[in-house]
Amino acid sequence: MADQNICSVNGNCIGCGVCVNINNKLFAMDGGHSKVIKQPVTSEEIASFNMAKSSCPVTAIVGEPKIANSL
Ligand code: SF4
Repeated sequence: MADQNICSVNGNCIGCGVCVNINNKLFAMDGGHSKVIKQPVTSEEIASFNMAKSSCPVTAIVGEPKIANSL
């Protein structure tokens, strides 16, 4: 459920590294492309993810993170 909220990097990525530079705990390079290595769940992580998303030159970062509820 809520698959559309899963954050990921799609095939448009050109491996520029901007997202990794913004937050290397959420993004990592993997064979010339970046990937999401941790889903953003805290407000800090989400702000950082959204900054990377808006900074990506090819709109390769997708997903609408939401703050995780603690039950
Ligand atoms: S900023 Fe965009 S194009 Fe650059 S590495 Fe990250 S996902 Fe790929």
